[in-house]
Amino acid sequence: MTKPKIWLSSPHMGGEELKFVQEAFDTNWIAPAGPHIGRFEEELGNYVGVSHVAALSSGTAAIHLALVVLGVSRGDEVICSSFTFAGSCNPIVYVGAKPVFVDSERETWNMDPQLLEEAIRDRKRETGKYPKAIIIVHLYGMPAKMNAILDVAKRYDIYVIEDAAEALGSSIDGKKVGSFGDIGILSFNGNKIITTSGGGAFLSTNRQWVDQAKFLSTQARDTAPYYEHSQIGYNYRLSNVSAAIGLGQLKILDEHISKRRENFQRYVESLAKNSEVSFLYEPSGHFSNRWLTTILFDEAFRREKARLRLESENIESRPLWKPMHLQPVYAGVLYYGKGVAQDLFDRGLCLPSGSNLLVDDLHRISELIHNV
Ligand SMILES: *Cc1c(COP(=O)(O)O)cnc(C)c1O
Repeated sequence: MTKPKIWLSSPHMGGEELKFVQEAFDTNWIAPAGPHIGRFEEELGNYVGVSHVAALSSGTAAIHLALVVLGVSRGDEVICSSFTFAGSCNPIVYVGAKPVFVDSERETWNMDPQLLEEAIRDRKRETGKYPKAIIIVHLYGMPAKMNAILDVAKRYDIYVIEDAAEALGSSIDGKKVGSFGDIGILSFNGNKIITTSGGGAFLSTNRQWVDQAKFLSTQARDTAPYYEHSQIGYNYRLSNVSAAIGLGQLKILDEHISKRRENFQRYVESLAKNSEVSFLYEPSGHFSNRWLTTILFDEAFRREKARLRLESENIESRPLWKPMHLQPVYAGVLYYGKGVAQDLFDRGLCLPSGSNLLVDDLHRISELIHNV
């Protein structure tokens, strides 16, 4: 008999989601628009500490609209972390702009502020103009070095979009990620720390940008009794039923974070004696939601052995994100770096980290890794 599958990160309902969904059904707000969307946006804004929020159909849609709202278009360059998921950078191509990938530093695994500055100066030398925006990612929940990055961005007057898709609830000195940049984005995909079964958000203190994002996400309908359009719009709004699920999930977000941080701590303790495995710790002031616990092996072959061993026990684990500058679809795209992301990809592994992961299963996973 095959053992029941253990997932990397699976949806975890708290119990109140159905109450909000029932409310939506009882009032017949099944059509995409409805009152739960506004409530979800307000609670989310209060949680992250950003005054204006647009709830959207995905995190990728939120990044796309961020680029549109900032006026990024054909002929522009946009800097993005190379070490990330494709959803971070594909929207750069949607708007016809050119991605420029920047490598990670080793303390948070996120964009290296020094390389960022080198890339900006080099692009100016090469093209005569500065990149239009920078997309910063807080990978696996670990906040990037935002203070240094914002210093660089300010020096050259470049917009910052913060991809906090994996990092809802993470913070630096108590300030939540998603509130540092000009625009923050979140994802509520099924594998993220909370889910609406699919969804995302666009956050900003700039009310006009958020209004613009809402306008564009509902097909850019001008005010008229008939359908009138003077701009190209999108169908990117979160549905009311999804927002109702989100209201229930927000109630247990902090519990999910505690549980995921406990997972990390338990993995650290149970693998403490293993000198072939190391962990990513929080730099001072950084608080990670520990969306996924990630480990680095001393050698690439050992990572692969561990992954296959877990797979044979029906346990899902995964190498770290394959850097974007190494993806076939981005072959030949500009890259500034020193191979840090590639090294992390070669030696790193994401471990099952769900807020519903059983402690016994976690110990079994540690044991398997320890014995490869
Ligand atoms: C999940 C994710 C996205 C995209 O979010 P979707 O809601 O799946 O579109 C973007 N960036 C990162 C880093 C992600 O992990």
